[in-house]
Amino acid sequence: MSDHVSRVPAATAPVVVAIDGPAGAGKSTVGRAVARRLGLEYLDTGAMYRAVTYGALRRGVPVHDDGAVAELVAALTIEIDHDGVRVDGVDATTAIRGREVTESVSAIAANSAVRAELVARQRAWVHERGGGVLEGRDIGTVVFPDATAKLFVTATPRVRAERRVAEMGGDVDEVEAAIVERDRKDSTRADSPLVEADGAIVIDTSEMGIDEVVDRIVADVQRRSSEGVA
Ligand code: C5P
Repeated sequence: MSDHVSRVPAATAPVVVAIDGPAGAGKSTVGRAVARRLGLEYLDTGAMYRAVTYGALRRGVPVHDDGAVAELVAALTIEIDHDGVRVDGVDATTAIRGREVTESVSAIAANSAVRAELVARQRAWVHERGGGVLEGRDIGTVVFPDATAKLFVTATPRVRAERRVAEMGGDVDEVEAAIVERDRKDSTRADSPLVEADGAIVIDTSEMGIDEVVDRIVADVQRRSSEGVA
C-alpha cells in the first residue's frame, strides 16, 4: 500500500527584518551588524533614493519636475554591492553622500513614481534572496508590512548630529538643523511618510551601545521566526 501523505518539507518563511527611523539614528551600523549575525544580506534603501537624486543632478533633470524624474527613474540602472554604488555604470559611492545629493534627496523621495519603482526593486531584491535586512523610512509600513521583525531606530537630534560630525566633520548646530529639516520633510510628505509601523519595536540608541541594540534585535528576530510570529 502506498503512502499518500505527501512528505513535502514545511516551507520556512523568509526572514525579513525592517529597520526604519530618522536620519543618522544608526540604522546602517545596526542593520549591517544584524544582517551579519543572522547570515542575511543587507540593503540600504536610502542609497537607492540617493542614487536617483545623483542621476537627476548628473543629467540636469530638475528634482522638482515630477514627470521628468519619473521618466528618469524608470530607465535608471542602480547597482549596490560591497564595492559601492553605481548609477548607470558610474561610481557614485562618495557622491551620493555629498551635500548636493543630501539637500535634494527629500524632493526625489516625495515623488510617487520614484517610490513605486524603488519599492518594486526592493521587493524583487528580497524575493531573489529569500529574505534580508532592509533599512529605510517605509520598510515596515509599506515595503514589508508583514516583515518578521519591524524596528524603529531613533535617537535625539543632538546625538544624531554629534555622530554625523564625528564621522564626517562639520558644525554640530548646522548639522542638527539640517537633520531636523530632512526629518520634517520625510515625516510630513503625502506618500509613505516616516512613521512608526504598527507593531514596530522602538529602539532609542541615544544612550545604548551598538552591541546592546544588535543583541536585542537579533534575539527578537530569532524568537519571532522560531514562533512563526510575523
Ligand atoms: O537613509 P538616508 O538618510 O541615506 O536616506 C536618504 C533619504 O532617502 C531620506 O531622507 C528619505 O528622504 C529617503 N528615503 C525614503 N525611503 C526610504 C529610504 C530613504 O524616502 N525607504
